[in-house]
Amino acid sequence: MVNCAKCKVYACRSGLNPPPDCPMATMKEVLSESLKLYKEAELKLARAAATIEKRGYAVWPRVREFAEFCREIGAKRIGIAFCMGLMDVARWVVEYLEDMGFEVHSVVCKCGGEDKSHLLGEDVKMRAGGFEPMCNPIAQALILNSLDTDVNGVIGLCVGHDSLFYMHSKAPVVTLIVKDRVTGHNPAAAIYASNYFAARLYKR
Ligand code: SF4
Repeated sequence: MVNCAKCKVYACRSGLNPPPDCPMATMKEVLSESLKLYKEAELKLARAAATIEKRGYAVWPRVREFAEFCREIGAKRIGIAFCMGLMDVARWVVEYLEDMGFEVHSVVCKCGGEDKSHLLGEDVKMRAGGFEPMCNPIAQALILNSLDTDVNGVIGLCVGHDSLFYMHSKAPVVTLIVKDRVTGHNPAAAIYASNYFAARLYKR
């Protein structure tokens, strides 16, 4: 059992002695193995992430952090995989990144227009009977892979569709916006206001 979320010590931050069930006490080999995995590519990303944290923490909004991160790793060509429901946001982000000097390619989730019934079945349609295209995050990844993007940004892919995109993207992926249709794409709102959201969190 590992449960940092329930820790009351946070020795990893303070340098105090770790609690007995802490991975720093029980999984020393795993932690040391993790450090060996920081090879050239991983170190480049990790150093860039730390640099962005140092330069823009709590100052730059995430979209600026993304642009600066791309610059820091020397990316020239950026891919954007976005949800149809956030097409206006995607257009804004693409134009912003172009203004920042990048070549930007974007692919929408419905690309391919494959009816859900072909692969997934009629029963998962929102409205059975009519044409309803499936989201195809694997196609989004393969299209951006074929364009040799240096880094890909995700805008609002559905829960699970994002997993498929992450699994198939060749370039490193940064999540720009997570989808949450109920909270204006701010999932933390349902947690901060969990009393208010109780019915939506626990009842059907
Ligand atoms: S790593 Fe150890 S000290 Fe840090 S939060 Fe997890 S259990 Fe607590």
